Parts: sequence; structure tokens; C-alpha cells
Amino acid sequence: MRMSQLFTKTTKEATHDAESPNAQLLTRAGFIDQHMAGVYTYLPLGLRVLRNIQEIVREEMNRIGSQEILMPALLSAEPWKQTGRWEDPGPEVMFQFTGAGDRDVGLGWTHEEIVTPLLKKHVHSYQDLPVAVYQIQDKFRNELRAKSGILRGREFNMKDLYSFHATVEDMEAYYDEVLEAYKRIFQRCGINGIPTEASGGSFSRVSHEFQMPTDSGEDLIFVNQSGDYAWNKEIVPDLKDGDPAPDGSGPVKMMKAIEVGNIFKLKEKYTKDFELTFMDEQGQPQPVYMGCYGIGMSRVMGAFVEAHHDEKGMIWSKSLAPYPVHVISLNSKDETMQERIRTTAEGIVDDLASEGIEALWDDRLTVSAGQKFADADLIGDPLRLVISEKTLAEDAVEWKLRNESESRLVKHDRIKEEIESFIKE
Ligand code: ATP
Ligand code: MG
Repeated sequence: MRMSQLFTKTTKEATHDAESPNAQLLTRAGFIDQHMAGVYTYLPLGLRVLRNIQEIVREEMNRIGSQEILMPALLSAEPWKQTGRWEDPGPEVMFQFTGAGDRDVGLGWTHEEIVTPLLKKHVHSYQDLPVAVYQIQDKFRNELRAKSGILRGREFNMKDLYSFHATVEDMEAYYDEVLEAYKRIFQRCGINGIPTEASGGSFSRVSHEFQMPTDSGEDLIFVNQSGDYAWNKEIVPDLKDGDPAPDGSGPVKMMKAIEVGNIFKLKEKYTKDFELTFMDEQGQPQPVYMGCYGIGMSRVMGAFVEAHHDEKGMIWSKSLAPYPVHVISLNSKDETMQERIRTTAEGIVDDLASEGIEALWDDRLTVSAGQKFADADLIGDPLRLVISEKTLAEDAVEWKLRNESESRLVKHDRIKEEIESFIKE
């Protein structure tokens, strides 16, 4: 992608939500644009990050045998009235209105009321179980306070997975599989998502949240000594910083954190409401046990920025970056030199493309070197390559990683190889 063609512009000042780094940096770099509080447009660079997260989640969901579907976002009130959630939490969470023909409708904020009746049409016998389906979709929630940029939106992107089982044991086993899949997802995203015990509300004794420690988080968690397990303060309200962990594993550390995902054992909660049962081998009807599992993809994107930035801008991992490589061609007053710089940069970009590696190329002719460097730091792609009069004299390019301060020269005949090994490592 040539920056001369990119329609979005970087800005020095964020216009809103100044206290939250993710909103500030993502807006300034032209990744997102606020439409109103809690509602954003994803611009080309931001959309690429969101898609990278979605793709990691999709791969890990497919890997544990769940099948992708896409349910509607515009929903009939009927099934919500059946479970009682049309009234409680009702409009406090759900956007509700009257559609054509005086019909009560609402926007999807979660999908148990849609997926359970859907599965009732397909699950009849023990042979139809277990089954797991997921979707990646925008959810709508009438959040009282939409703040902290894309960490808490009124419209936000979520992956929701629902699983259905013949026995409690099978539900528990799948729950553990999802827990492992979530660990892989956050690890691949470069997010420190700590499995955290939570109360799980009224219908599930234990559930897990995945919490990322950050000052902009709204939750308080107690992290164990090895930093790989935590407890939400809500369930252990009497625990204090430095107390022994509930599992006896040593002192805990209290931290502010943001929930990036969670997993619930719903058991018979919704399958009972919709009378979703199956025939066992003896032809007897039996209850179906259910689990539900969410990850906020847009929140993951915001959380990553909260954890990975400096005073100059964002610092993306290769797995999430809009582009792994940011190529800068500096301008020269000398026309012949200018042309040599341009063709060298273009050659590198084309070479990479033929290897399936996409680069963002700052080819702008009217932008100063200082501005190009500032933009590269703000956007935060992991590897920056600079081609200038100076580097051409060395038959090389300047190679610099966003998370390191030193740069070095790499000879032209070594570039392709070095980049390939950088991408693979
Ligand atoms: P929270 O306690 O932060 O409000 P929640 O318990 O309401 O979250 P769920 O209903 O389980 O969350 O949603 C699943 C996931 O969706 C959450 O783990 C989070 O990553 C994401 N999520 C929830 N609400 C929002 C929101 N308003 N904006 C962005 N992401 C959200
Ligand atoms: Mg909520």
C-alpha cells in the first residue's frame, strides 16, 4: 500500500477522549474514527488489525471443531420475552424499538436467544451432539458510559461461541478445550490474558474471565505469584494485596485489569427455556447442556495498544500489525537520485509482495523526512526500512525495529533473506 494513495491522514492531536491511549493513538494514526461516543468507523489500517485478530480467533475456533455461522443482528423480541431478558436487563443493555407492523425488535447484544432455538431445529438425538457454533459479528449494547476508546463501545466486534452437550462431563471437557484455545489466541495476539476465576453470575458457579492487567482497566484482580492465574475481586472480596492465594500458592498481587474474554458454563439455563432436548440411546428425552464463550475483538485491539505503546506511538506485533514492514523512501533534490531511490524502494516492495509479504510504502513526495519518521513511529509497524541518498551510497537500506532504538544497514542483496527470516522468527 502506498501512503500517497492512503486516504487517511495522521494528526498531531486527538480530538476526544484524551485520557485513553488507545483512543488517542488509534485516532491520530488514522486507524479509527469516532462517529459518536462508543461507535467507530474502522479505517484501512485499523481494519487490517481487526481482521488479523479475527483471523487468529477464527483459526483457533475451527481448530477446536466449532463451525462458523452468522446470525442476524436485528432480532425479534419473541425469544427474549421467553427468557425474560426483554425486560431484565431489557433496554438497560438492549437497543429496543418498534419495527414495521408494530413489531417489537432489538439489536443483538448476545445470542443465546437465537442460537438455542436454531439448534433445536437440528439437534434431535444423541448422535447430533456435541456441537459447537460461533460467529464473528458486531454487538450492540446500550452501555451507560461508553469510554476508553474501543475498550467499551456501544457497537463492538465480538466472537461468540456456543457449545451443546449430552452430559455435564462433556460440557466440562469442552470448556477446558476452549480455555486452552483462548490461551493460544491471546498468546498469538501478544496479549497477556490471564485466566481469572469469576463468579459467573447466578446460573454458573465458576466461570473464567481472561483479564489483561492495565491501568485503564475497570476490574480488580489478584494475580498469583507466577502470573498465570488470577481471581476477580468480586468473588473474593475479602482478599487483600499480598495475602496468600485462594489455592495456597503464595502471595497475590492486586492489579487493575480489563476483561478481554470470558467463558461460561450455562448448563441448562437456556436449553430449558427453549425445551432443547435430545433422545438418548434408549429413546428417552434428555436435557442438553450448554456453554458460551466470548471475546471482544475490538477490545483486544484497544487493549493491545494500551499495553504496547510509547510516547511516539503504537508498537505492533507482527501478528497484529497492519503491515509487517514499513518502507520509507526519502526525497532528494537531485532528480536522478530521486528516481533511483524510488525504483529501489519499489523493487523491495514488489519483491516482498511476490513472497506474500505486504508492505506499507511511504512514497509521498511532499512530506519531510521528519514527518515520515514520526508517522512510521505513530503507526507502529514492527520493521522500518529507509531508502535514501545515504543508504544508496552504501548499496544498502537502513533497517530498524519499532521496539528497538538502534538501526543498522542491510546490503541490498541480503534484504529479501533477512526479511523472510524476520517474518518467520
Ligand atoms: P464487561 O464486564 O467488560 O462489561 P461483559 O461481562 O459484559 O464485559 P460479555 O457479555 O461476556 O462481557 O462479552 C464478551 C466479551 O465481549 C468481553 O469479554 C469483552 O471482551 C467484550 N465486550 C463486552 N462488552 C464490550 C463493550 N461494551 N465494548 C467492547 N467489548 C466488549
Ligand atoms: Mg458488560
